[in-house]
Amino acid sequence: MPNSVRFDSREAVDFAIVGSGSAGGILAKELSTAGFDVVVFEQGPYRKAHDFTHDELSVLFRDELLGGGPEVNGQTFRSNENETAVSIWQAPARYAQTVGGSSVHFTANFWRLRPTDFKEHSLLGPISGTNFADWPISYEELEPYYTRVDWEIGVSGAPGPFDAPRSRPFPMPPLPIKSSGVLLEKGAAALGLHAQPEPHAILSQAFNGRAPCMKCGYCMYYGCEVGAKSSTLAAMIPLAEASGHCEIRAESAVFRIETDNNGRASEVLYYDAAGEEQAQKAKAVIVSANGAETARLLLMSASEQHPDGLGNSSGFVGRNLMYNAHAAVDAVFEQPLNDYKGAQVSRIIHDFYETDEARGFYGGGGIDARPLWSATPIFHAMLGMPPDVPRWGAEFKDAMAHNFTRQMSIIGSTTSLALDSNNITLDPRNTDKWGGGEVLTGPRGGVG
Ligand SMILES: Cc1cc2nc3c(=O)[nH]c(=O)nc-3n(C[C@H](O)[C@H](O)[C@H](O)COP(=O)(O)OP(=O)(O)OC[C@H]3O[C@@H](n4cnc5c(N)ncnc54)[C@H](O)[C@@H]3O)c2cc1C
Ligand code: SF4
Repeated sequence: MPNSVRFDSREAVDFAIVGSGSAGGILAKELSTAGFDVVVFEQGPYRKAHDFTHDELSVLFRDELLGGGPEVNGQTFRSNENETAVSIWQAPARYAQTVGGSSVHFTANFWRLRPTDFKEHSLLGPISGTNFADWPISYEELEPYYTRVDWEIGVSGAPGPFDAPRSRPFPMPPLPIKSSGVLLEKGAAALGLHAQPEPHAILSQAFNGRAPCMKCGYCMYYGCEVGAKSSTLAAMIPLAEASGHCEIRAESAVFRIETDNNGRASEVLYYDAAGEEQAQKAKAVIVSANGAETARLLLMSASEQHPDGLGNSSGFVGRNLMYNAHAAVDAVFEQPLNDYKGAQVSRIIHDFYETDEARGFYGGGGIDARPLWSATPIFHAMLGMPPDVPRWGAEFKDAMAHNFTRQMSIIGSTTSLALDSNNITLDPRNTDKWGGGEVLTGPRGGVG
């Protein structure tokens, strides 16, 4: 394990960070390079770029990077609070359990929010039955940090007609256009819409000692074997470790945060790789374990001082879980597109991003073109074949050979609303392999 430093668990480190993903990895780099002693707890293993594979069965169907399916993580699901929660074939909260978290396997589409997103409640008014609210900060306040992220991790792209203002241009040009992007551009132009290059947290050029994308195509759901995807694993954690102030403690699943007599977080309890209980004292604890697991850990840390869980005086912990929803339409073209090459998306339409009350519903989003099911062969065979084609024999093989290179999809990625009923709660009847449990009610995740 390539840790450059190992801290004594009985001495309080400055920060214990739970989770090494998009949030935790950046915090680890920022704090450790500022001279603070940091231990990052990550329940998944410490895989490096050369450990990632193109094994479709393992990655897509056996949830290799997700730490196993529901039978391992214990997640259950119910549509509403009157139902009994049950295990379903795909865990409802799907995220990567590996150093770098979901930034390792995400699709790396890297849109920014717009100024209107921060004040939708003020602009649109209340929406009954929801907890619809403005953000406490504005786009203008966040913009310098967006720009820092772009330039520190490496983001490719080019400005589009509806983009929010940027204080600095993209650090590198967009990834090359793909067949699906050319078709989207043509279709958009015919309809008076605007297809623009998709911004990506993927390198289109060599950057900070890292290689550019080699267009392997095993991108969405996979780890990048060359480190071109700007995950925290590739871009942040090496800097944190090089500081000499950061220990990545992998295969360490935190199950409880203890508080001191003043009610302040003082220690994390975790299971190590052998399943043994361990503890680490800390002056401060940061929980960056993603939208689902952060809530779960805070709820699991209930005590006499914090009977409803840590940080939960509002009762909001675990509530208002928001997903980005998706809808897809597939088409098979006459000519081969070979769209499986490279990152999923190369062009996107943002004409429908904003809520338009004339449409009669809340929200908007982006429409992109991508191979989706035809990104990889087994994915295509399992999920991309038309329903009327047999699932075996010569007809199946012919359809597979014909369609795989010719299929593409149009995907809408949309917003969702904050609802009490979309929540994480603890399931008293189910446990994960470490002894915890959780229930997610409400919507389920999809592609990104
Ligand atoms: C398949 C997929 C595609 C996506 N595509 C996009 C995209 O194109 N664009 C986009 O903007 N977003 C995309 N996303 C979403 C994006 O990846 C996440 O929003 C982002 O990574 C969340 O960052 P995070 O730091 O909050 O959590 P994560 O990155 O999920 O990191 C949380 C980490 O905490 C660890 N952890 C959790 N609980 C514990 C515990 N108790 N103890 C120790 N460790 C723990 C987890 O193992 C994980 O490594 C996608 C997500 C998925 C799953
Ligand atoms: S398509 Fe590019 S960024 Fe994605 S995994 Fe392959 S090499 Fe990495």
